[in-house]
Amino acid sequence: MVKEKEKNPYEINDKVYKRFKQKNNMLFRRLWDKSLSTYHQMIDTNIEKHIESKKDGYSRIDFALVAAGWTVYERFPYAFTWERKDLMDIGYGVNWMKSKYIIENSKSFTNYIKRAAKFYGASLVGVANVNAKWIYKTGFKRPDQTSEAEAKKEVRGGKAANSMYDQPINLPNGINKAIVMAIEMDQDAISTAPAQPAAAASAIAYSKMAFIISCLGEFIRNLGYRAIQCGNDTALSIPLAIDAGLGALGRNGLLLTPELGPRVRICKVFTDMPLISDDPNQEFIAKVNNYCKNCSKCAEACETNAITKEEDPTFKPATISNNPGVKKYYVDVEKCFEYWIENSSDCGNCIAACPFSKIVKYLTPNEFWSKI
Ligand code: SF4
Ligand code: SF4
Repeated sequence: MVKEKEKNPYEINDKVYKRFKQKNNMLFRRLWDKSLSTYHQMIDTNIEKHIESKKDGYSRIDFALVAAGWTVYERFPYAFTWERKDLMDIGYGVNWMKSKYIIENSKSFTNYIKRAAKFYGASLVGVANVNAKWIYKTGFKRPDQTSEAEAKKEVRGGKAANSMYDQPINLPNGINKAIVMAIEMDQDAISTAPAQPAAAASAIAYSKMAFIISCLGEFIRNLGYRAIQCGNDTALSIPLAIDAGLGALGRNGLLLTPELGPRVRICKVFTDMPLISDDPNQEFIAKVNNYCKNCSKCAEACETNAITKEEDPTFKPATISNNPGVKKYYVDVEKCFEYWIENSSDCGNCIAACPFSKIVKYLTPNEFWSKI
């Protein structure tokens, strides 16, 4: 039976919908699914071939820009922490951090949290109630206070056992709010998609998210509450962002925001703070639903036909990497990932092509590098 509630931005078939297993995400599936042409391949597969090709946007300088963009995301061991193990005195004392800050007015306090999120670097921020549907059933859990690079060494080397990325994910009791943040990706760099500066825009947004969630998580803990800092892990970011009023789901399978379209990356901090949740932006959701029906610029820009050109969304998933039970435009992420391997990076064509990204001028990679 398909439910359609007035205030619900999704059409969900509760008989079909199940919490997502992160092992079905292509970055993990390539490790265990032998039926894939991308089995055991990673985006480094073709890098040297690209560098030798001397193609604009694929030089050693371009790849150096991308790889370095990931530095904070990959190397900072506190980025995706679920709790503060040791109260470390960094010169400000610690006693005042131990009790719970008394929140007298949840509404104005929520504004403090949003202000802090923006201050630390979020472009957009909203608050959602935690909907258990969006929490992964199983997934990759980093050992606490371990950097992404260190935690995923085995996974990236292709040696990881299933159990590493198929662990039960359960938020602790009392964690019932998600502070969801979107981080802008550089317009000039994205406009060069699928060349490497576009991938660098994505990389640097991930590093910014590691910085932002670390600072926001500590800010929350300094006030005596719990914070679980997440990137793409732990829960599906797009429905959380929609619940938090940040935007709508587009044909390209991405969050479209009114301000920046899909030119964002998403992160979230779960907390037990008594925050006031935002409502989904129904007006924008209706606008995107109508717009995507008659626009297929993202689908036309996709080199591998991973994005459907069908007029209407459907309940039929394209691959097992899609989570069925929600009516939407399903993206064939197997095809998408094949192109990522070929391109030696994420591609971004479907972001650059979307009118909601508001790209004023499309640059070549050479023009991107000339703009100082
Ligand atoms: S990222 Fe590239 S390959 Fe993947 S769906 Fe978008 S346009 Fe297609
Ligand atoms: S390019 Fe067009 S169809 Fe694709 S997500 Fe953007 S608005 Fe929707």
